[in-house]
Amino acid sequence: MDSPGFGLDDLAKYPFVQEAGDRVKALDVSLQDLEKPDFKAVVDRARERVEESFGKRNISSMNHQPDVEILSFPLSMALVKASGLDHLMRRYSLSEAKKVEGFLERESREVLKRIFDSILSFPVYDGGDRYKGLDYTVNVEDFLIRSVHFHTPEWKLINHVVSGGRVYLRKTDVVRLVREEIRDIIEKRLKNIGPIKLPEKLSIIVQEIIQETPPPVIMETIGAPSIGYPPCINHCVEILSKGENLHHMGRLFLATYMLKIGKNVDEVIDMYHNAPDWNPRVSRYQVEHLAGLRGGRTKYNSPSCKTLATNNLCFRDPKNCFGIRNPIQYGRRAKGKDKVTKSNQLKAKI
Ligand code: SF4
Repeated sequence: MDSPGFGLDDLAKYPFVQEAGDRVKALDVSLQDLEKPDFKAVVDRARERVEESFGKRNISSMNHQPDVEILSFPLSMALVKASGLDHLMRRYSLSEAKKVEGFLERESREVLKRIFDSILSFPVYDGGDRYKGLDYTVNVEDFLIRSVHFHTPEWKLINHVVSGGRVYLRKTDVVRLVREEIRDIIEKRLKNIGPIKLPEKLSIIVQEIIQETPPPVIMETIGAPSIGYPPCINHCVEILSKGENLHHMGRLFLATYMLKIGKNVDEVIDMYHNAPDWNPRVSRYQVEHLAGLRGGRTKYNSPSCKTLATNNLCFRDPKNCFGIRNPIQYGRRAKGKDKVTKSNQLKAKI
């Protein structure tokens, strides 16, 4: 039985919509049922969804019966939750959202509208014919709240057409905003799932997934937060090492600081490998830009302590941060190259 709004194929593509949940209830399959041979395809697909999220980082598009796809979504959520791995939860949520992004880009305006109405907590309006190619609008406030997650210049409000309190957007921009919303929905749902008791066969799969899942990459590439770095840098490293989102200023600061102390572009790019929205091409572009290898060839300096404090990135260490104006000085202070002089003590008090 199809939902009046979505067909079964739609529910298979968008298994997080309410109607897909209704379909799962209607199928009335218990966790114990899933151990039976009849449901092998569902279990295999659920496992594949999880493994692809940390392997290829992209969950493959469907090549399955719609009900296999629909049932495997909640089961894959259960497997991820039962693993207890926070970084897997983040990776999985993002990979599911990216898969959906691919579908949305190919949908008609009518289908997109239905999906937006069904899942979004903010309205997306038809942009009319006023600006060619800008088919959608969102309220400025909604745009600002959501675009904060993106770290490229095209997401700055100043680079968009704004009129009557709305931001005009291309289809790809709206889909990107929606992707972030879906990632958030899935991650929140995972966090809200209570303790799960899985039957034996599924528990074994969870153990295998735990063994296969790589640890957060940042720990391997740059090591745990170091006493040689200033506390503000350690904070940024820690955020990335947990696979959490480091905001734009934090990313810019980390890159400029690391370039300044002599890390090369590749080493700096590697540091972002664990970010939930890691994109090697975008990372390379941004880091090369900061290193002065692109555009106007300006080599950017690390932001000052004052700027970092304004952006809630200062975690002052009273001993080694005393009297310094830029985190670069922290290393010198720790090595005794920058003496605490009366002059910089005075500057620190100003
Ligand atoms: S005072 Fe400067 S170096 Fe120290 S934590 Fe704050 S921003 Fe970093």
